[in-house]
Amino acid sequence: SLASLAPEYIRAIAPYQPGKPVSELAREMNLDPAKIVKLASNENPLGMGPKARAAVERELAELARYPDGNGFDLKAKIAERFAVNLDQIVLGNGSNDILELIAHAFLREGDSAVFSEYAFAVYPLATQAVGATNICVKAVDFGHDLDAMRAAIRPDTKIVWIANPNNPTGTLARPGDLIEFLELCPKNVLVVLDEAYTEFLPREKRSDSIGWLKQFANLIVVRTFSKAYGLAGLRVGFALANPEVADILNRIRQPFNVNSLAQAAAVAALDDLEFLKQSVEVNAAGMKQITEALQELGLSFIESYGNFVTFHCGDAKLLNQFMLERGVIVRPLAGYGMANSLRVSIGLPHENARFIEVLREAMEG
Ligand code: PMP
Repeated sequence: SLASLAPEYIRAIAPYQPGKPVSELAREMNLDPAKIVKLASNENPLGMGPKARAAVERELAELARYPDGNGFDLKAKIAERFAVNLDQIVLGNGSNDILELIAHAFLREGDSAVFSEYAFAVYPLATQAVGATNICVKAVDFGHDLDAMRAAIRPDTKIVWIANPNNPTGTLARPGDLIEFLELCPKNVLVVLDEAYTEFLPREKRSDSIGWLKQFANLIVVRTFSKAYGLAGLRVGFALANPEVADILNRIRQPFNVNSLAQAAAVAALDDLEFLKQSVEVNAAGMKQITEALQELGLSFIESYGNFVTFHCGDAKLLNQFMLERGVIVRPLAGYGMANSLRVSIGLPHENARFIEVLREAMEG
C-alpha cells in the first residue's frame, strides 16, 4: 500500500483530535451555528484585541508581498518586552511549529524525549514523527513529577518536554522545583519549557523562566499568542533560547513561516496591555463561575492555572455526546488516557452559563 511508503513509526501515529468545529457540529446535529457554544480549544473568548485587529486591517493592504522572513518588527518588540537579544528569538507558525522545529532539529531515530503522562499531546506526536522514542513518565496528582522525569533521562535522551501550566490538566510546577530540575538535568539535554498559558498566572505563581536563560544554556522557553493574546487563528508563537540553539531552529524553519497578518497582530498585541489584563480578568471570573458550579454539582475537578478546567464525570463519552446534541462543544480526553474526564475552556459569562445549564441537565435529568 502507499501508506507503507511511510516508516512504521509514522504509520503508528494517532491523529491529533482538535475540538469539533462549530460548522461541522451545526451540520451534524442540525443546529443553528449562532447558538453553538465552543469551549473546546482554550481560545480567548473575547476574540482578538482592538489594537491587534486594527493592525491586521492595516496589513491587509500588503498581502501581495511576502511577509518579513526574519520577522524583524516582531522580534524587536519581543526583545524589548522580554529583555532578550534578537539572536535568542525564533518565531513560529503557532507554538506548535516551534515544538516541531525543535523535534526536527534535535531528534532522530535512536534518540529519546521525556515528557509527563497527561502532558500536551503534541510532545509525543512531534517526537514520534521524527522516529525518536517517547519516554512517558507517570504523573503525580495529574501534574509533572519532575524528579521522576529527571530519573527517566537516558544517555540517548536529547529533549525533555515540560508544559507549565500543563494542558489538559492545568497543573503548575513550582519555580523552585523547575530550577532544581534545570540544575540537576544533564547539560546536553534540551529542556523545553512550554508556557502557553503563563499570562493567566498571578504574579506570585510565575516563574522567571526567561531570566533563567542566562544561567541554563540548554533551556528553551516557548510562548504563544494563541491564548491570552487571542490570536489562535493567525498562528504565531515564539521560542526564547540560547543563541546557538535559536540559530539551529532558524536555519530549518520555513523562510516565511509566520504570515504578515500574524506578525502585525502580534506586535500590536504586545502593546495592548489593557486587553491582556481584561482577558486575564475575564478568565479568572469565568474560572470561578465554572468551578463553583462543578462543586455545586458534586463533580471533582483538577485545580487549573490555565484558561480551562478538567473535571471528572464518569463516562465522559456519554456526557460529551449529550453536550454536543445541545450545541455545547467541550474536549474529551480519552486520547490522553482520561476517559472519565472532560476539559472545558473558560468562555464569556453567558457561554459558561450555557455549559453549566447543559451539565446540570445531564446530571439531574
Ligand atoms: N502548548 C500547549 C501546552 C498548548 O496547550 C497549546 C495549544 N493547545 C500549544 C502549545 C500550541 O498552541 P499554538 O500552536 O496555537 O501556539
